[in-house]
Amino acid sequence: MSKQLYALGELPPLGEVPEKMHAWLIRPERFGKPTEAFQKEVVNTPSIADDEVLVLVMAAGINYNNVWAALGIPVNVIAARNKGGEPEDFHIGGSDASGIVYRVGKDVTHVKVGDEVVMHCGQWSRNCDWVKNGGDPMYSPSFRIWGYETNFGSFAQFTRVQGHQCMPKPKHMTWEESAAYTLVAATAWRMLHGWGASSIKKGDVALIWGGAGGLGSMAIQIAKAVGATSVAVVSGEDKYDYCMKLGAKGCINRNEFDHWGMLPHWKDNAGYAKWLKGVRAFGSKIWDILGERRAPNVVFEHPGETTIPTSIFVCETGGMVVVCAGTTGYNATVDLRYLWMRQKRLQGSHFANAVQSNEMNQLALRGQLDPCMSRAFSYEELPIAHQLMHDNKHPHGNMSVLISATGFGLGASGKAPVAMVHPTLPKGDVHTTPAPYPMSVPLPSIAEGEPITIADDGTRVRDLMHFGIISCSPDDNVGSVAKIMVDKEIHAVIVMDPDGKAIGVVSQTDMVLARQGRTAEQARTMLAREVMTPGCATCDADMLLSDAVSLLTARRMHRLVVTENDQPVGVISMTDVVRKIIGE
Ligand code: NAP
Repeated sequence: MSKQLYALGELPPLGEVPEKMHAWLIRPERFGKPTEAFQKEVVNTPSIADDEVLVLVMAAGINYNNVWAALGIPVNVIAARNKGGEPEDFHIGGSDASGIVYRVGKDVTHVKVGDEVVMHCGQWSRNCDWVKNGGDPMYSPSFRIWGYETNFGSFAQFTRVQGHQCMPKPKHMTWEESAAYTLVAATAWRMLHGWGASSIKKGDVALIWGGAGGLGSMAIQIAKAVGATSVAVVSGEDKYDYCMKLGAKGCINRNEFDHWGMLPHWKDNAGYAKWLKGVRAFGSKIWDILGERRAPNVVFEHPGETTIPTSIFVCETGGMVVVCAGTTGYNATVDLRYLWMRQKRLQGSHFANAVQSNEMNQLALRGQLDPCMSRAFSYEELPIAHQLMHDNKHPHGNMSVLISATGFGLGASGKAPVAMVHPTLPKGDVHTTPAPYPMSVPLPSIAEGEPITIADDGTRVRDLMHFGIISCSPDDNVGSVAKIMVDKEIHAVIVMDPDGKAIGVVSQTDMVLARQGRTAEQARTMLAREVMTPGCATCDADMLLSDAVSLLTARRMHRLVVTENDQPVGVISMTDVVRKIIGE
């Protein structure tokens, strides 16, 4: 008879899955700094579906995603999943891992219990029509990042993954090394190899931004493996050696230039000329390194706003700038003359599908991809690792944390097919940009409305609003909130915290969403905090009604909480507006 719970580091007999497991959990009530948001708990080991696999995690990779999951912004990942019908009120993060297969769903044929695996972080529904028809799952509306947008990631004794996520672990790597590379390397692989005729080829030149960073260090190695020449951009000469050991032909120190940021307007002759001088000097650095006047066929982009104008300018005619992030900002400006006259391509890219992840992993299995792990942490240090990332004090390179592995340096059972380089990053190197947003950012919907302007006849919000707030506490259950709605004949209830601050709204739509995948009884027992739409749009009682209408229509909202001296005093709704502008 198997034990109900195994101590961390004590491996259950192969294939024996205990009922409970140790895990690091994030819960909504402790959203905030990672050292407080992550807490150790014991939870039920998840069950698996026919296309899924349960893996005993030996080590897990650390990424920016779960710094943001801990903070609860820009998305409350738990509420988002609850609205989609997943009932757990906690989040187990972790989007990179190495481990041992412990249970296999009946439709999974390529792995078996006992296999040592690493996992890519793409999940999608196999029942999605797009996927069923052979479409790239990266375009499926069901695509999710495992361990960020899904629960039961790798920060636990067991993780639940879809079968296709499992790939062979390179035998020459330790548990912590093999947990460190998949997310960044697969992303870099799709960026460089996923775009048909524009993909990187033998003999090409690639310009790699952030060559010493997580993505950049992988991109240099992937470019080298295909026989391309890469030029890395870094922020200091102390990183040149690192990038060149990985395979870059040479490096550029971006701090020698100052033409960064959005493009000056093309009518601004002086400003544009100054920018042109800067970008030309940058371009000629590339020629110096290559020893010939060649432009990069592929530019590997992720800083975004500050560098895209340069990337587009220096890219070869017919070449591609491929971008997977906007770490410095999203408003990238493009001088279209260079784009259309020289027929360049600006290509967006996001993570990778299973085929691409496996192609990348072949490189790792062949010993041609160094995981570039800069630091590994113990299980106890998992929150600290995230806190360092949050505070921008973490080392460059990829980090991982031991889960079931009992010590550092374990798990390697073979020699690398080719000698790995293992370059080390300069000590004391500091991050200069704030922690980037998670790889999946919330997108404003196309359905966002245009603000509607109504004539201003001097009417103020206070002239029409309803004084008094019908509210509930975050811990009231949905059954009692529904009763308030029905009894008072209102469409929404404001959720107020114990300090009298409005923290969210439970609308009729939220109620309907809460019922998805649940019985009426299950929905009734949920809490207001779990179903509410977080945040409350407010306006001052003295705001002009015309301005309030613009606010409501631009954000496609039905009501605003009205404040006086920053205290909520009432509500103005679209019904009130209709009453005023059309009449009853
Ligand atoms: P990282 O390890 O922090 O490396 C980023 C590198 O960018 C740094 O090493 C830095 O190098 C460079 N950099 C910083 N500020 C810059 C600036 N103003 N101009 C030019 N370069 C600058 O991060 P990473 O893991 O490589 O990830 C990079 C971005 O990609 C993040 O935003 C991440 O969220 C995103 N990402 C997206 C996906 C996806 O699938 N969409 C997947 C993984 C990561 P120097 O200071 O040496 O120049």
